[in-house]
Amino acid sequence: MFGVVPKPLWEKRIRPDERNRIRLAMRCLLIEHPDGLVLVDTGLGNKEDAKFRDIYGVENAGPGGRTRLEAALAEARYHPEDVRWVINTHLHFDHAGGNTWSDGTEVRLSFPNATYLVQAGDLDFARQANERTRASYLPPNYEPVAQAGRFRLLKGDTEIFPGISVRLIPGHVPYLQGVLLESGGERLFYVADLVPTRHHLPLPWIMGYDVEPLRTLETKRWLVGAARAGDWLLFFEHDAEVIMGRLNEDERTPGLTNILEATSDG
Ligand SMILES: [Zn+2]
Repeated sequence: MFGVVPKPLWEKRIRPDERNRIRLAMRCLLIEHPDGLVLVDTGLGNKEDAKFRDIYGVENAGPGGRTRLEAALAEARYHPEDVRWVINTHLHFDHAGGNTWSDGTEVRLSFPNATYLVQAGDLDFARQANERTRASYLPPNYEPVAQAGRFRLLKGDTEIFPGISVRLIPGHVPYLQGVLLESGGERLFYVADLVPTRHHLPLPWIMGYDVEPLRTLETKRWLVGAARAGDWLLFFEHDAEVIMGRLNEDERTPGLTNILEATSDG
């Protein structure tokens, strides 16, 4: 998760277990919009086998064979059928795995009434996976959506609805998109894998998964400027402890103010 950053540096911030794993979240975002419920990313889903779940230490199971995502929707008094739009930041398995689910015999759309929004470039990139990228793009997470004609493919920065727009934030993958929300004079940016946790705020702390790390560096430089100028809340998808916060003033050791901490495992 920390690429070329030496372990003696990163383990001071976040303790690995005996298998060198760190605790991470797969935090989706549900937006109640006048045009319908919008869900940003869908987590891992339920389709992976025991070996896969053991390697990553996945804790994602929910009631009825579904996942914690559906359980969280139910807590908010919604059903999967109520979700009208799904925005995939990209199609990696921990972001789009919950696009579909297995009922034990077949793979179905998790949100049967939703249109799924993704960058056209990321779907192409997924379909042209090579030896380096293949392990992250698993066709059962997106081909059933394509076969059902439920993708709306975006080309670059796009306003989806008033108050909801996507921005290209390339580097992790060439067509990663973040989601900018504006409501009541506040702005929140869902940074996805550009800054997966608050520990990745320093510019050179870049994941080894990134296919274009120097582009990530420049995109992060843009993000820091834009977030400071616009007073954005930054929403972290993978940080197990911090949901979101604002950047502090310290240019050299970027940290957060107005932190909202996660209060449970959910
Ligand atoms: Zn990713």
